[in-house]
Amino acid sequence: MNSYNGFSSNVRAKVGNIQLKAIKSGKFPKPAQCELCLSTDGQMQLHNEDYSKPFADAHPICRACHLALHIRFTNPDRWRKRKAVIKERRIVAGEEIGSNWWDHLINQPIVMHESLSEFKKNYWGEDNSTEVMFHPANTLPNNPDNLTSVMGAVFNDGNLLLTKPIRGWGLPGGHIEENESPEECLKRECIEEADVEIGNLKLIGYWKTKKLKKLESNKKYPDEGYQLLYIADAIKVNDFVPIHEVSERMFIPTQEVRNIHHNYDNFEEILKYVISVR
Ligand SMILES: [Zn+2]
Repeated sequence: MNSYNGFSSNVRAKVGNIQLKAIKSGKFPKPAQCELCLSTDGQMQLHNEDYSKPFADAHPICRACHLALHIRFTNPDRWRKRKAVIKERRIVAGEEIGSNWWDHLINQPIVMHESLSEFKKNYWGEDNSTEVMFHPANTLPNNPDNLTSVMGAVFNDGNLLLTKPIRGWGLPGGHIEENESPEECLKRECIEEADVEIGNLKLIGYWKTKKLKKLESNKKYPDEGYQLLYIADAIKVNDFVPIHEVSERMFIPTQEVRNIHHNYDNFEEILKYVISVR
């Protein structure tokens, strides 16, 4: 099984087992009719677009529709033909056509928003006062009021931009100011911290933060917040003039980041993810 919509094969298999158990125990209805082509023949399956909702997003689907849907990234023609069959059968049955969820699926694999994340839980701040979990995403979280900051994985000829503030080498980024979009924030921070102008910004995920203890040092942060992660390209690398608290900047091959990042134990899984989606 491959990953789908940003959900790993592991997560997909787990959800499959949960669904099977629920069907066996009678807690969830056994799929009897394909939601797409309306067929009732043969073995029916369940399809999820969002595996974080094993039941709310479970669609009964026949094998032919299921297969065509999943292989559409490599065989869009087969999916197009299947959709024609679906439409024809629905017209014959006098069903609504035209605005169903499967009409809007794109033929590009996508990174999904908040998933059953396999990233490990981390703790940040003085006295581990904040619990942090990374989630792959290509859309902003549902509660955009609590976006606190933005980080950027900025590449120049395959090398990653790192900056060195007081805490040590890491990704550039910082707090979103009032009336500033996340993209504007990251562009500003990259100029301020590294004298690098960036473009082609793409959201790839966020850290969800949860305050465990209320301290003087974290009182400006919301109880629950989001720190966004983008990837971007360096468009123009200007001469470096150290200002603020950043004393150095550099572009480094990704395999050398481990030698220098101030907290590589926690950063490693993020770096691997960045490389995988780039
Ligand atoms: Zn079908």
